[in-house]
Amino acid sequence: MLDRCLDCNSSLKKEETACFACGAPVKRESSRTTFGKRFATVLKFAFFGSAILTVASLFFDATPSFWKCITATLVLLLAKSSADQMLEPNSNH
Ligand SMILES: [Zn+2]
Repeated sequence: MLDRCLDCNSSLKKEETACFACGAPVKRESSRTTFGKRFATVLKFAFFGSAILTVASLFFDATPSFWKCITATLVLLLAKSSADQMLEPNSNH
């Protein structure tokens, strides 16, 4: 699959670091980074969903118990922050 310049939409060769047509620097994301970002997004939504469920569990009987919810929320929070750290642009893992 060919990459395309974000500025002028001309096709880019794999080894190019700047667009030959407009000179814009090419931002290339590895599939690993893309996967990590998707994973972090999923975790973020799961975290917020879990947090809402935790609050709801205080008021409604239909939800799982409060302690199950708060545990899930904390686990998701930890996973989310470590995923965010992993995606820090300057970290060399
Ligand atoms: Zn361009």
